[in-house]
Amino acid sequence: MRDEFLVFGAPQIGEEEIAEVVATLRSGWIGTGPKVGLFEQAFREYVGAEFAVAVNSCTAALHLSLLVSGVGPGDEVITTPMTFCATANAIAHTGAKPVFVDIDRRTLNLDPARLEAAITPRTRAIVPVHFAGRPCDLVPIRELTQRRGLTLIEDAAHAIETRADAGKVGAVGDLTCFSFYVTKNVVTAEGGMITTNRRDWAERLKVYALHGMSHDAWKRYSDEGYKHYAVELAGFKYNMTDIQASLGIHQLKRVDANLRRREQLWARYDEAFADLPLVTPAPPAAGTLHARHLYTVLVDAETVGLTRDQFVTRLHRLKIGTGIHYVAVHLQPYYQQTWGYQRGDFPEAEFISDRTLSLPLGMKMTDQDLEDVIEAVRSLAGA
Ligand SMILES: *Cc1c(COP(=O)(O)O)cnc(C)c1O
Repeated sequence: MRDEFLVFGAPQIGEEEIAEVVATLRSGWIGTGPKVGLFEQAFREYVGAEFAVAVNSCTAALHLSLLVSGVGPGDEVITTPMTFCATANAIAHTGAKPVFVDIDRRTLNLDPARLEAAITPRTRAIVPVHFAGRPCDLVPIRELTQRRGLTLIEDAAHAIETRADAGKVGAVGDLTCFSFYVTKNVVTAEGGMITTNRRDWAERLKVYALHGMSHDAWKRYSDEGYKHYAVELAGFKYNMTDIQASLGIHQLKRVDANLRRREQLWARYDEAFADLPLVTPAPPAAGTLHARHLYTVLVDAETVGLTRDQFVTRLHRLKIGTGIHYVAVHLQPYYQQTWGYQRGDFPEAEFISDRTLSLPLGMKMTDQDLEDVIEAVRSLAGA
């Protein structure tokens, strides 16, 4: 057995990031400043979008994207129950109702065939999640949102590198939201980004993210001289800092090399688990690129002899950290008590919710860590 506990999703921070953060701290400008601008530009170029607006989390990105789309009280927004609670919470923050649609059990993504039946005259937007970095079927989803006059807001928290059937994620939707949380593929400790091709939305997002103040108000103490700002709306405090951007600028440079490493880890898991009674992830559709954010396996008590929770506990005892992505959102007490959802509403998501667990796939993993995970999983799954 291992000596040290293998932390799930531990971030890899390089010397370049550390030097950049130190330089930012010494510069005297640690809030929103020029490095946020550089990170936005690099990110915009990476995904191929016209505009990128940095914020302090993906949750903030989702909230503001909904607001600029005009979503408010009395509206409905469609999303998936197989996501982190933040996706649905952001909808609730606007006063709109989160409406769930069941997933495809094989891809863990929203099933496009079920979407149209969930649209009502109150529906304003659809928020698909590219689960684990596997692209949703954006061609049919975008056809639907355009035909029905809805906004397409993608939750791309797992999907910085993802390329879908319709093109690069972030370049082809109306608004796309990314996360730089500590476990994500690009890390700024906390942070998020919104990409869009609409200038009016990009400008409004910036105003919303900084107290509702106009005219690049972050520059008001710079050498350009003091300019008065106008408060145009009751905005939020969602801006990113130059300390965070210092991390992001260098993390983004390694994003493709990191993906190649995770593709290797993934292939080794696939090979090592092929003879086990575990369901491993399906290969991505031809012509798409999977961002390999989470490697999920399904543990079925009938075939494995352990429940998922027992499996997780036993792995933990073997010093292997895991994640559960996710307990379906409609099973959480707030969503049951406030919106009336119950078990049985979304059987496909519940099937996954009861069985899924995520194995370590982080950039800090060594080859030995990988072999330790494989050995532990194989021993528990009865090999
Ligand atoms: C991490 C995550 C979020 C929230 O991101 P933050 O940056 O932590 O706010 C939203 N949706 C999904 C699917 C996530 O995994």
